[in-house]
Amino acid sequence: MSDPERELRATREQLRNLIERNGDAIVVVDDAGLVRFANPAAEALFQRRAADLVGKPLGMPVIVGEVTEVDVLRPAEQTGVAEMRVWETEWGGDHARLAVLRDITDRKRVEQERGRVFQEQVARAQAEQALHERDEFLALASHELKTPAATLSATAQLLKRQLERQGSLERDQLERALDRLEDQSQRLARLVEHLLDVSRINAAQLTIQPQPTDLAALVQSVASSAQLTTQEHTIVVSSPEHLEAEVDPDRIAQVLTNLIDNAIKYSPDGGRIEVELSADDDQACVSVRDFGIGIPVSRRERLFERFYRANTDDTVSGMGLGLFITRHVVVLHGGDIGVEGPPDGGSRFIVRLPRQERAHAMHSLPTS
Ligand code: ADP
Repeated sequence: MSDPERELRATREQLRNLIERNGDAIVVVDDAGLVRFANPAAEALFQRRAADLVGKPLGMPVIVGEVTEVDVLRPAEQTGVAEMRVWETEWGGDHARLAVLRDITDRKRVEQERGRVFQEQVARAQAEQALHERDEFLALASHELKTPAATLSATAQLLKRQLERQGSLERDQLERALDRLEDQSQRLARLVEHLLDVSRINAAQLTIQPQPTDLAALVQSVASSAQLTTQEHTIVVSSPEHLEAEVDPDRIAQVLTNLIDNAIKYSPDGGRIEVELSADDDQACVSVRDFGIGIPVSRRERLFERFYRANTDDTVSGMGLGLFITRHVVVLHGGDIGVEGPPDGGSRFIVRLPRQERAHAMHSLPTS
């Protein structure tokens, strides 16, 4: 053998070594899309013998350019993943493409595992946060329930002591005590009703029974009842004489009661509370406006969330459930609720409810 021949042979041998021992899969695909060559790393990646690969389609698009990530279908095992880079080449005098594929199946698996662990951590943190919120809520709810319960018990004990001491009770002593008992037991019932409503909402069991209702009478009646609970506030209703709408009267009364109660609660210095009812052909609109402490713009967005309380000091008691329930009821009616801060102070809550009805002349009535 001549020297050049020997050299040529040695070079060929080196090249073959390079290709056969290469950790990356090397595949040549002709213009018909058929494999013309596959090295041992390609056999390992595709889990098919070179003889099986050659002459058959590779089973994936082989496009010259950027590195792409490709799924590698294997006969037995689950799909592998490889990074593929393709160059133009020539094979046996014909145009072909040279694809180099790096098996990244294990790296992907580790990444996926890491992603899964991360997701689990996020889910755990969320569950812990929910538990924490629930605990905080239970503490708040217990506190809220304890106050009227303690007043009931203290009032009953006071009556008993007075009866023991005096042998009988003065009429005005008794009346004052009964008022307090009534007031606090109503407060307790309202709190419990809120808690029940929230669990109904959570279980998607809060339903409404719409029926033809005179919203004007309903607004008037709720406002009159609310007026009885306060001497510092004057509730003024502006409403047509009648306003028919298809609503659930009990639930809409609850919505109005919540809004007016809040207007009272969050106007500690007393003052006017304006309740306005109006309508066009399609919808009725009720607004409740107070001149109280108002709500900072930044806190308005979250007001209707469960447990959310906008004023962080503890001067006014509450569980942060009323507006959550209110909005739910309004939305069940196909309506919406919003809040605005009028320039001259206080808050205005506006409820819009769909209806089908006739318009009436407006007139104002004080409710007290
Ligand atoms: P609660 O009154 O029991 O806290 P709500 O869901 O009824 O719960 O109200 C949520 C929060 O919205 C209240 O804590 C209060 O900060 C704010 N808010 C509601 N109504 C008014 C109002 N008329 N004026 C000022 N703040 C209000």
